[in-house]
Amino acid sequence: MINRSLKELGAALAEKRISSVELATLFVERIERLNPTLNAFITVDKGKTLAMAREADQRLASGLAGPLTGIPLAHKDIFCTEGWLTTCGSKMLSNFVSPYDAHVVSRMKLAGLVTLGKTNMDEFAMGSSNETSFYGPVKNPWDTARVPGGSSGGAAAAIAARLAPAATGTDTGGSIRQPAALCGLTGLKPTYGVVSRYGMIAFASSLDQGGPMAKSAEDCAYLLSAMAGFDPRDSTSLDRPNEDYGRDLEKPLAGLTIGLPREFFGTGMAADVRSAVDAALAEYRKQGAVTVEVSLPNSGLSVPAYYVIAPAEASSNLSRFDGVRYGYRAPEYADLSDMYCKTRAQGFGAEVKRRILIGTYVLSHGYYDAYYLQAQKIRRLIANDFVEAFRHCDIIMGPTAPSTAFAVGAKSDDPVAMYLSDIYTIAVNLAGLPGMSIPCGFGEGNLPVGLQLIGNYFEEARMLNVAHRYQLATNWHKRMPENL
Ligand code: GLN
Repeated sequence: MINRSLKELGAALAEKRISSVELATLFVERIERLNPTLNAFITVDKGKTLAMAREADQRLASGLAGPLTGIPLAHKDIFCTEGWLTTCGSKMLSNFVSPYDAHVVSRMKLAGLVTLGKTNMDEFAMGSSNETSFYGPVKNPWDTARVPGGSSGGAAAAIAARLAPAATGTDTGGSIRQPAALCGLTGLKPTYGVVSRYGMIAFASSLDQGGPMAKSAEDCAYLLSAMAGFDPRDSTSLDRPNEDYGRDLEKPLAGLTIGLPREFFGTGMAADVRSAVDAALAEYRKQGAVTVEVSLPNSGLSVPAYYVIAPAEASSNLSRFDGVRYGYRAPEYADLSDMYCKTRAQGFGAEVKRRILIGTYVLSHGYYDAYYLQAQKIRRLIANDFVEAFRHCDIIMGPTAPSTAFAVGAKSDDPVAMYLSDIYTIAVNLAGLPGMSIPCGFGEGNLPVGLQLIGNYFEEARMLNVAHRYQLATNWHKRMPENL
């Protein structure tokens, strides 16, 4: 059961081969056994989980169930969950029991998914290794001396170790795709505005986007279809018709043009990542796709631009800390007061403090034009690069991360080295495009490698189709870590 796809789990539940209570119990018991080693969950509540599973069983018995009813799901602890502790990986929220559900959480409940718990994450989603969490680092199930990636590292470790069939994640600069790559999973960041940010604690509001993390593209299609949709409570939520993101999964790929950005295939990529990515591209050519070189000439500026824009937005979000408790809110309070920094800063970890200082500095009088405005102009150039590239291809591919999972502690004292973990993912957030990571092999030390797919705006269904066809021909996504 622990290796089954969501479709298979749905069928097993519908045919009464297993009950939702039995299924939830199976995962809860794995969490009890393995979480002390992995630290993937911050909060589990067996009583609440089983109560939801019992409700799902009633729904299944009454014939009112949907395809996901009764399947367990973990939520990243950035999503407000009514009656559950919601910490965002921070001491600042260590006693915050949310009085309401994030939009994503209510959508998942509506679909009948059963909440397994809240997963560990970098504090306020700032990080690429899960080492900044107030609740301690998460271990990568493929090698517990290594990081799972971040910031959705708890979600990634949980799925990789089969403590949960799937999870929600968020991606501001790579936080769904990079941990998915480092843990051998499939993760999708939607087009900005497709998934509501209501009740998703803000990091950088113009970049943040929630999305699914699971074992396969097919699983992600089911989850995204349940999660996406217009929500008037998020002013950037897009009012578009609901989609079945799995509608094109099976379409053959003959005639597909894959763009390979010259800038993504340079010296930055480790040799083992490179050979796995090359082999994946060969598989796509075998299926009838053609590859063409494209260029994203400004992508080299994406990390510096991001580390002006994201901290600027984060510092204004965190400065109205009481707003943080209620997830996304309109920016009523724009000031960054000294008093706030002095009285609140003690509660934050070192990385969050660093971001607040950078953000406050780049927004301050006299520096705003030189840094913040400049970064916004670069952001536009980066988005334009993609518009041009998509005139020559249907989808863009490259590595998700420059290396496989690195050792715990290897980059924690070197912020710039850490920030470069997202060198291939950040431009996608700056442009607001959809992106995915899918497992495409193993590198040195039997560590997973991720292939990144970048679609044009609103082309999630196409991207999932391209990912699914690869997963029909390969088994990388079915592997799980041994010795667990
Ligand atoms: N690693 C990046 C950062 O630290 C991105 C994090 C994210 O996507 N939430 O900001």
